[in-house]
Amino acid sequence: MRAAVYDAPGEPLRIAEVHDPVPGPGQAVIRVAACGVCGSDLHATAPEADLARRGGVLGHEVAGEVVEVGPEPVGGWSPGDRVFVMPVGGCGRCPQCKLDRPEQCPRQRSFGALGPEEPDGGYAEYLAVSSADLLAVPSGVPLDAAALCEPLATGLMCVRQAELAIGDRVLILGAGPIGLAAAVWARFFGARRVVVSERVGHRLGVAERLGATDVIDAGLYPDAAARFAELTGAEPDAVIEAVGRPGMLNAAVAAVRPQGRVVTGGVCMEPDSFDHLLAYAKEPTIRAARVYTKAENEFILEMMASGRIDPAPMISHRVGLGDLPAAFEALRSPTDQCKVMVEPGRG
Ligand SMILES: [Zn+2]
Ligand SMILES: [Zn+2]
Repeated sequence: MRAAVYDAPGEPLRIAEVHDPVPGPGQAVIRVAACGVCGSDLHATAPEADLARRGGVLGHEVAGEVVEVGPEPVGGWSPGDRVFVMPVGGCGRCPQCKLDRPEQCPRQRSFGALGPEEPDGGYAEYLAVSSADLLAVPSGVPLDAAALCEPLATGLMCVRQAELAIGDRVLILGAGPIGLAAAVWARFFGARRVVVSERVGHRLGVAERLGATDVIDAGLYPDAAARFAELTGAEPDAVIEAVGRPGMLNAAVAAVRPQGRVVTGGVCMEPDSFDHLLAYAKEPTIRAARVYTKAENEFILEMMASGRIDPAPMISHRVGLGDLPAAFEALRSPTDQCKVMVEPGRG
């Protein structure tokens, strides 16, 4: 099969012919219909981080079709089943997994070559994954939308950590896929104002389509807190940081109302300074969001199936494997890209 192989930091992905995956015990092989390009793939392959497994295949936002099931599967999967693959999976057999909480599994596993031990991911025609990590995609939900489940789950987790009350005013810093997903859910769960600050103009339009009540062009208004006050007449009850660059946590604390909530959803890969006096003055609750739950992923698929959310505007580009290396490198600098979807069936 064809796959996009990661060789080393600073080198573009390389399209290669590799062995077809064979399902081991408990595994299923999935034909990849769509795999989202994630910010963590870009982070992990950047020279300063250098975390990704060399020679591995990245990609952990996968939806597709079961083509083969190995021995001793978890669940009654058959070829042809449409599935989303939970990127953070459990063993399927321990007490936590039996309680349907794979995110608490002591033998938690992920795929997508983001670390030295992680198996190959979905920038390929096929991949082998644990059958315990599959979620059925309801009929009527296109597989490319199902692949958005992962960023949507990350945004949902941020909104859950922000403990929104009906009528809250929310500021979201950054309109990449995580910030956009947070906008979807903040509005869904009753925020009165959802204000998204971002410097890429195209993404501001997407934010408005997805539930933002107001947007701030960060190029024109670098002080998001001041602009938020102009727009809403108040300070935000919660700030969701979805950029992940040094200084953003301080900016979020500076913006939030006294005793408000700050959630960091963007993952800053470098050490960052923290303004203790500023936090002291504001007394915010600061929470770091790491992992979503299986229940959240199931809920998202259900909300898509019932038409209560439509995340399709998040997809800005669709590429086949052949065009992935160039699209992947382009994402390293700000562009009009938002979620780039790899569709290996396109060639
Ligand atoms: Zn991701
Ligand atoms: Zn387990």
